[in-house]
Amino acid sequence: MKYDYHIIVIGAGSAGLTVASGATGLGAKVALLENHKMGGDCLNYGCIPSKTFLRTAHLAKDITNSAEFALNAKLGEVNLKKVMQRVKDVIAEIEPHDSKERFEGLGVDVFLGESQIIDKHTVQIDERKLTGKKIVIATGSTGRIPPIPGLENVNYVTNKTIFDLEDLPEHLVIIGGGPIGLELGQGFRHLGSKVTIIDQNDHLFPKDDPEVWDVMKKVFADDKIDLCLQCKVKSINETNNLKSVIVELDGKEKTISGDALLVSAGRIPNTKGLNLEKLGVKTDKRGYIITSNKMQTSIKNIFAAGDVTGPFQFTHMAGYQAGKVVPNTILGFGGKTSYTMVPWTTYTKPEVAHVGYTQPWAEQLGIYKESMIFQLEEIDRAKADNDRYGFLKLILGKKGKIIGATLVGDKAGEMIPLASLAIAKKMKASAFASIIFSYPTQAEIFQRVSFEYLKRSFKDWMKSLIKKIFL
Ligand SMILES: Cc1cc2nc3c(=O)[nH]c(=O)nc-3n(C[C@H](O)[C@H](O)[C@H](O)COP(=O)(O)OP(=O)(O)OC[C@H]3O[C@@H](n4cnc5c(N)ncnc54)[C@H](O)[C@@H]3O)c2cc1C
Repeated sequence: MKYDYHIIVIGAGSAGLTVASGATGLGAKVALLENHKMGGDCLNYGCIPSKTFLRTAHLAKDITNSAEFALNAKLGEVNLKKVMQRVKDVIAEIEPHDSKERFEGLGVDVFLGESQIIDKHTVQIDERKLTGKKIVIATGSTGRIPPIPGLENVNYVTNKTIFDLEDLPEHLVIIGGGPIGLELGQGFRHLGSKVTIIDQNDHLFPKDDPEVWDVMKKVFADDKIDLCLQCKVKSINETNNLKSVIVELDGKEKTISGDALLVSAGRIPNTKGLNLEKLGVKTDKRGYIITSNKMQTSIKNIFAAGDVTGPFQFTHMAGYQAGKVVPNTILGFGGKTSYTMVPWTTYTKPEVAHVGYTQPWAEQLGIYKESMIFQLEEIDRAKADNDRYGFLKLILGKKGKIIGATLVGDKAGEMIPLASLAIAKKMKASAFASIIFSYPTQAEIFQRVSFEYLKRSFKDWMKSLIKKIFL
């Protein structure tokens, strides 16, 4: 059978755009379908707006704390409309890179409209039917709205609408203490809002090494962010613009009221209209598409990539998976995913970055041997920068090999690739000792941890031997 396209890609976010440009670059005829905005969540409602907003918020924190830098600057009134205009300006600056025009220029046929998969080779977009040898589902995810009684009658914001706020909330109440709630919550706090974060867990950062929470709870306490942990939301109501969240804590009910409410309670996959069940595309119990390590679904010619597949919902992961989809759809071989070296960063201040195995994960797999921790406050540059909170933890497997790392610090996201490289190259904890680091840099923390490791490995009998022979 002759098809209109080699590949039909559904969804023009991080994953879909990478597949479309990569496959076209290899000579495939590609259709790219999008039902909302080119660029997906990352550009429009995720990474870019949040990080742009956070830059302003973290600057505000430095201004507020200017006395610590021997200045007496004062944060004037925050015009949130202007802050959010800057967010929109940065999105507009990046937009052309992900635009319909640019992709058409690359040779991709871009279709904007509502799409539906009709059968395993046919996709309908509005009135048009397109056929493809392969279909790639890259439809992403959306914020989960939990079934809380009363929520449907309340004016709340999500990551899709929070960047449209024009007035700084006096009190922002947040349901969900995951990365989105924490980053945005801390950002609003730095701009001057009172912030309360409600979460049902007894601690936050549950996917990170346990030492992260020990540090971050002090950070949030310093920031005067109210945390309502182990709080179960019972109901919500709104009167005169005041949103009241009724929670249960230790068997007692308590009301938390604010003039703004952010719901950031996890994600759900975008699979509406894809007819997955009818097609026989298998999903897990949360509705995420199950794929092989070649990103192939249970239907041979249908592939999936990005948030819609579930694990590790990051832009870099969408790009990584898409990079496997391209050769696998075109050549039938060329790449298998491995999730043993995935980095992630929560862009709080300080940032929390991780790559590879955490200690609990490595222990569970029986590959954990030991770990090394070095505190950031012992690094000269951190003292100069007044970055007091943070540490580097290396997770070590057999023979001192680095299999994971957690780094907390203002520049953690920028420095964690050093650990990625060490893991990829199967380097030992001592590896950074022989590298010359510029002084003073916070990255020296890697070298200091290597020195500690060498010191620890240097046994008393070795010292005695040296004494006997050389001294
Ligand atoms: C507030 C926030 C902050 C974030 N910050 C970061 C960060 O700092 N770093 C990081 O790595 N990740 C971050 N993420 C996660 C990141 O945005 C996602 O992991 C990434 O966008 C996933 O890419 P994707 O291509 O799978 O999905 P998306 O980017 O969501 O793209 C999917 C596209 O498919 C379209 N679509 C859906 N259904 C259909 C259909 N039926 N037909 C046609 N088109 C359809 C959607 O409109 C969308 O454009 C953040 C997310 C949020 C919400």
